[in-house]
Amino acid sequence: MEETETRMNLKRYYLIIYLLIALMIMGLFYKNPLLGKGDIGYNLHLMCVVILSVCLIIYPIYRSSILRWMIVLVATLYFYAMFLVYPEIGSTILLIYFIPAISIIFFDKKLFYTSIILNQVLIVGVIAYIVFSGQESLYPNVTSDTIGNIATFIGSQIFLYLIFYFTSERITKMKEYYEQVKHAERLKTTGELAAAVAHEIRNPLTVVKGYLQLYEQDATLDHPMKQSLPLLIEELENAEQVISQLLSLSRPTDLKTESVDIRTAIHSVTELLQSYGLFNSNKIEVVIESDSLIEINKIELHQLLVNIIKNAIEASNAGGEITVTAKEIEGNHVEIKVIDTGIGMSPEELALLGKPFYSLKSKGTGLGVMICTNIVEKYNGSINYKSAKGNGTTVAICFPCKTR
Ligand code: ADP
Ligand code: MG
Repeated sequence: MEETETRMNLKRYYLIIYLLIALMIMGLFYKNPLLGKGDIGYNLHLMCVVILSVCLIIYPIYRSSILRWMIVLVATLYFYAMFLVYPEIGSTILLIYFIPAISIIFFDKKLFYTSIILNQVLIVGVIAYIVFSGQESLYPNVTSDTIGNIATFIGSQIFLYLIFYFTSERITKMKEYYEQVKHAERLKTTGELAAAVAHEIRNPLTVVKGYLQLYEQDATLDHPMKQSLPLLIEELENAEQVISQLLSLSRPTDLKTESVDIRTAIHSVTELLQSYGLFNSNKIEVVIESDSLIEINKIELHQLLVNIIKNAIEASNAGGEITVTAKEIEGNHVEIKVIDTGIGMSPEELALLGKPFYSLKSKGTGLGVMICTNIVEKYNGSINYKSAKGNGTTVAICFPCKTR
């Protein structure tokens, strides 16, 4: 389907391009007063038509940035050549005003800004040249109404900028939307796959772990292999952890919800994790500024907070402090922040965050953040990460709430 659409678009592109080329060739040969006179201006016109035509024809094959720049630069040269070589065609001045519109087609910010600035410099240069070389009489359109021309020029540039601004804003929004849809689709597929795989693996794993624990506790058993049993059990426990995280992804979406007090929920999670933080002398500071209730499934809120705070502890250096705050914002929302001063993340790492199995830890599952995003979205909340490599991370979670 997509391929057919692309083919259709390509057909339309070539139809338009061939029409344009035909018009340009017509301009060269049909009743052209300079035809066959060996005029420099005419030769420049001819060269521009040839280069521009070739670039436009091969563009869909290569789609390279060099070709885009060439098309815009040669088109600029072409329109200026038309303007200077054929002063009797009055409308070419208007075409010049709109040259930067070509770069809007390519949605290239750098190209657009270069083109609009270059065009402004060129236009001032060309008009100065006309005036100072005493050729005003050749270009009556330009010099007879200077104020009118300046006003039209400024207006056209503002108009161009507005078209570019709104088009690029729209495209950015569409890209974001597309990313969100892709992300949601990935979560759904991962969830379904997780449920199927986790169920199959969980039972045999429990049986194996049970037997290993029995052997470990069996005092009569004396075998050199017995020393490795704790390690085997620990590895199985890690696998179990991955599976239970995976299973939580495929949890039914219509879980029972209740009004949960944020203060109580945060305190119970931080108390639980306080001892985990003590391994590395990390203290968890809690600052609750409001008494808010959110409508949520208690277990899921718990799981969300545990995952985020655990990540903060794991990212912290020895002795680093973690701060958990909650306050009401915009009247009917509560914002929970988990702030650490640990290793932080680079923009590239931030972009990968939340992708299934993305983890930089040797024993990480890479599922925590994805599960959190899933829970937050389910209750119409939002989750945002702010991080700087080496300086720490702030996770801000926002939920609609009721005030007590
Ligand atoms: P896991 O904790 O099992 O690795 P997560 O999905 O919870 O999986 O996190 C994925 C990765 O994101 C982590 O491995 C870590 O690199 C990064 N990360 C998450 N939270 C933080 C944080 N607060 N500071 C620095 N890195 C973080
Ligand atoms: Mg984690």
